Amino acid sequence: MKLSIPIFGIVLAGLALATPAAQAEPCMKVTLTGTQGGPPLFNGQAGAGTLVQYGDETNGCGAVRLQFDTGRGTNMRLSQMKVPVGKLDAIFFTHMHSDHTEGLADIMQLRWHFNSGGPKVDVVCSEDAKSPLGHTLSCTRYVAHIGDSLIQSGEIAQRRVENEKRLAGGPADLANISTFSPGQDAVEVWSKGDVIVSAIGSRHIPGHASYRVDTPAGSVVIGGDAGNDAPKPPRPSSTSEWVEKLAEGADVLVHSTIHPVMGPDRESGFPPPIYYRQSNASDLGALSKRAGVKHLMLTHLIPPMGAVKQGPYPIPGGALSEEHYRAAAVDGGYEGNVIVGTDLVTLTLPAQ
Ligand SMILES: [Zn+2]
Repeated sequence: MKLSIPIFGIVLAGLALATPAAQAEPCMKVTLTGTQGGPPLFNGQAGAGTLVQYGDETNGCGAVRLQFDTGRGTNMRLSQMKVPVGKLDAIFFTHMHSDHTEGLADIMQLRWHFNSGGPKVDVVCSEDAKSPLGHTLSCTRYVAHIGDSLIQSGEIAQRRVENEKRLAGGPADLANISTFSPGQDAVEVWSKGDVIVSAIGSRHIPGHASYRVDTPAGSVVIGGDAGNDAPKPPRPSSTSEWVEKLAEGADVLVHSTIHPVMGPDRESGFPPPIYYRQSNASDLGALSKRAGVKHLMLTHLIPPMGAVKQGPYPIPGGALSEEHYRAAAVDGGYEGNVIVGTDLVTLTLPAQ
């Protein structure tokens, strides 16, 4: 009896040590923060954006929070996901089109207002890209000037009088800009712990980039508005070969899409060059099959589901439904899981 008590005690101590050492399962959440395709407004949809969160069950898969593109209303959608703007680790831009960028101003202003003490948020995007037409696409300048209108209106000065801890340069002072040169081979552009983000160049406008996030819980590719290198047919596909390379073996592909009904053969009046610079849903289905992608999340839908027009252009045959988009992806030969994007739809990996 004298001996058994200490032995029992040792066994208990061993159990107590084993419990905290047990690893919580890693998990990842992919949320579409906005699914509107292009600049039009429709039915309160937010502009393009994808939130990728990684962690484990102890933190709701939310130890690392990454936002890809910040279309109109991204702030509102983040609040619905209970992600405070001060908790975003990094923001990535696919390209400098307002339907992907215009939500940055209110994200950065809110962060400046309440989180001027830091940390800064990493903003990752292409270096300045010169268009063959002579102008330059500059993410660096866009971010550096994100608070200029508020400086000009006097609001930044006014609010600094109320709280002098707010940074003198306004919202842009909280951005840590990091640029890269998007090319035909993927390069690592950001990492934190087990989370690695890489990027590859893709065509749409100069400086367009597509991203891949790899974590122990799974991987997701955010294609953005990528299209094929050839601006119009004849070509094998409307999708990008470089994005296909990036998506090889990925669990999830999030990609902007246009429905084939908007093609020049259907007489919607939609400008052919704009149709051709997006990847259509059938070609994305085919790409996903070839690359072995398990989940295809269609977003930035042109036209939006339920709309009878895309901007000024009528939809031939009337409004499209979820089934029209799903059928288009299946037409491309895809047999995996198709998620036709609506704001806040969330995919959790590993599957629950
Ligand atoms: Zn777009």
